[in-house]
Order: sequence, then C-alpha cells, then structure tokens
Amino acid sequence: MDKGKLYIVATPIGNLKDFTYRATEILSNVDIIACEDTRVTSKLLNSYGINTKTISYHKFSEKQRSEILLKYLLEGKNVALVSDAGTPLISDPGSILIEEVKKSGINVIPIPGACAAVTALSAIVNDGIFAFLGFFPQKISEIEKLKNYINDFDLIFYESPNRIIKTLEILRELFGEIRVSIARELTKIYEDINTFSISQMINYLQRTTLKGEITLIIHKNNEKKEDFEFLSSATKLLNDGFSAKDTAKILSLLFGLPKNEIYKKIVENNKKNIV
Ligand code: SAM
Repeated sequence: MDKGKLYIVATPIGNLKDFTYRATEILSNVDIIACEDTRVTSKLLNSYGINTKTISYHKFSEKQRSEILLKYLLEGKNVALVSDAGTPLISDPGSILIEEVKKSGINVIPIPGACAAVTALSAIVNDGIFAFLGFFPQKISEIEKLKNYINDFDLIFYESPNRIIKTLEILRELFGEIRVSIARELTKIYEDINTFSISQMINYLQRTTLKGEITLIIHKNNEKKEDFEFLSSATKLLNDGFSAKDTAKILSLLFGLPKNEIYKKIVENNKKNIV
C-alpha cells in the first residue's frame, strides 16, 4: 500500500485573505488536518468552506499525536499540519512529527504562506542579513549572549505586549541607544510598523494602547539610521496638514526629545527635499 503524504501548511497571521489557492486545495483534499487548536483553525476552514476532519496537535501532545498521525500516513492517508497562525515549526509545534515521519520514509511537503518574522522584515529597511531567534529570552544570561550577534545581524524575536517595554529597557541597559523596529498586528486592522531608537520606541509605546501581537527587530549595532525613520514620522504628520511647529510639538511629546531640536531637523529636511 502506498504511504500518505504529510503537508505542512502555512495559514494567515491575521487577515484570512492571506491564504493561497494551493493551501485551500490541500486542506480540502487531505484526509485529516492536525491543528494546534481545532477551534482556531475551524474559523479559517469555515471561511473557505473546507469540511475536512481535524485533530488537535499541540506542544503538550506532540509525541502521542505524532504516533497517531504516523499510523494514518502509513495506512496511506494524507495529513496536513497547521498552526493557529503562520508557518508551522516557526516557534510552533511540528518538529517531533516531521522527525518521526521522515524516519518512515514518508514525504513531507511544505506549503508556503504567512510568517510574522518574514512579513515584518519585508516592510522594514534591512539588508536581508538577519537571525531569527524565536521568543525573546527570559533569562538575563541568555539576553547577554545577544552581544555575540548584535554587530552582524538584525535580530528578530517574537515578544508579548505585556513584556515589550521591560524588554526594551533591558536592551537599552545592555546595548545603549540601538535601533529597534516593532511590527504590531501585522495584516490586521490596527497594523503598526515603526523603527526608532530604543528610547524613542519606549516613549512611543508608553503613549500607545499596547495590545496585539508583536514582532521585535533589533537592528545591527553598527547602523545609525534613526533620523531617517524619525523624519518619516514627521513627513507623515506634515502631509496630514500639521504645521512644522505642531509636528515638532507632537513628536516631542511622543519621543521625549526637545521641541526646538526636532523643529530644526524638520526645517533642514524640508530644505533638502525642496532642493
Ligand atoms: N508560526 C508563527 C509564524 O510563522 O509567524 C508564529 C507563532 S508564535 C507562537 C506567535 C508569535 O508570533 C506571537 O506571539 C507574535 O510575537 C508573533 N506574531 C504572530 N502573528 C503576528 C502578527 N499578526 N503581527 C506581529 N507579530 C505576530
């Protein structure tokens, strides 16, 4: 009897329309879908009219569920693995299943789609040289190890909104005024993507409702580009009809920098743009 195939299917990270034709086809045609949380995945399946049977597969049941799924595959059934959102295995379960399945010579087929880390990077100035390090470490000894990478790579982390300000304060303490980006609620209604110096970011976040999902990017230590990003916020406000004086006032409140210093930068930048 032919063995089945295991499809690793990426799902949207917010906007349900970010789902490929191929992914919907595969999920409609497999015999069973292994989901982190069947209730979460059922919303996606319902919106695409997919009626395939689901089974839960989460980090606490990986070993035991892998055995059941392997049995299905050996019986010739096709299985798809999905996470609650994004690409399976990227800070999500699935590795144990793939290990077991590969040992039995079963085909593992990736079906690409959304991933928060890559989506964030695609809208932030970077040179494509980065290190994705999963969830931000909790232990200070682990955080200190980042000094080994921070000069060479942009570092990408997943972080919770409850911890983000504390995390930025620790990073400032260890690495000084580095540049960071935060991509919040990607692909959703309140999507917000910014790059600032770490103090500017802390000020900004303290004045924002801190909810939703966050991807944090710590930029290489050797790059100093905060003026570029800062001036992009100023330009947005000027385009919205604020005067240079009011723009300076707003940004001074937002980033805790002296108003006249900001005003000077705005005027200088404006002169450059006119020329
Ligand atoms: N496998 C997923 C992927 O491919 O992106 C990531 C799963 S991980 C358990 C969930 C974390 O990803 C969240 O806590 C958050 O840090 C980040 N994340 C997920 N969706 C996001 C979004 N829409 N905007 C920003 N970050 C997001």
